[in-house]
Amino acid sequence: MISQLQQGLRSLKCYHMANALEEVIQTSKENDLSYLDCLNSLVEVELHNRRLNRIRIQFRRAGLPLEKLLEGFDFKFQTSISKRQVNGWLDFSWLDNRENKLFLGPSGVGKTHLAIGLSREALQKGYKVRYFSMCDFVEEMILKEASSSSREWLKELLRNDLIVLDEIGYLPIDPRYTHLFFQFINECYEYRSVLITSNKMPAQWGSYFGDESVAMAILDRLMHHSEIVIMNGDSYRLKDKLDTLKASEKFSDGAFPLRSKAPSENFN
Ligand code: ADP
Ligand code: MG
Repeated sequence: MISQLQQGLRSLKCYHMANALEEVIQTSKENDLSYLDCLNSLVEVELHNRRLNRIRIQFRRAGLPLEKLLEGFDFKFQTSISKRQVNGWLDFSWLDNRENKLFLGPSGVGKTHLAIGLSREALQKGYKVRYFSMCDFVEEMILKEASSSSREWLKELLRNDLIVLDEIGYLPIDPRYTHLFFQFINECYEYRSVLITSNKMPAQWGSYFGDESVAMAILDRLMHHSEIVIMNGDSYRLKDKLDTLKASEKFSDGAFPLRSKAPSENFN
């Protein structure tokens, strides 16, 4: 009887129910549970496992390059942002409201770490996320355009709740493709959330994109419903080397960029 029921459940694609059937029946017997409770436990097993599978698939699809957790972020080292502020983002109402986040600051201050940590939390909550380094994004965008498949690609991308574009500003974008990037941002505007990290302040985006007016239009859309976090301070990568490097500063002309400059100035 049990194996017949398991077969039936499998043909209904309720694989988790089928697998848990014997155990749930046994526990229900031991605890004198009603038929209704027993059935309810089985449905819960199915729903829970389906959700876990969905999240697992979404984690794979997100393309996060590293395992960086929010728990591992040292808010005592990076004081431009507080733990309270980040915790406030974890209800993800900003994703529901299609708002953006821009993390701006020099190299090594934790922009990517925070972006990945936040993406992981969003995925755990069941949101769809897609991560790109800006370099990979531009490369893919150009390839899709060349193969006339950019419409389908864009449609697929816009199925995500959050699109992360990490490290805007490091490698120059060919100005011939700036308009394509604008089109992408325009499609996301008020429809999907974008999380940007950049070592360039908005004033530098014109020269980065090679066109002031398109850069303005991109920024305009990104910043309209957004939170901008300026992250300053020393590079975490050099954390253990800072004392040595600071001492050596006395002997150098200060060419080595140990510290970030004030937010109003250029990062580079
Ligand atoms: P950015 O993207 O700003 O250049 P990253 O996020 O890549 O910086 O950080 C560089 C390295 O330092 C990473 O290994 C990251 O995990 C670590 N890191 C940066 N800031 C912090 C921090 N506040 N707490 C813990 N680790 C940090
Ligand atoms: Mg980074």
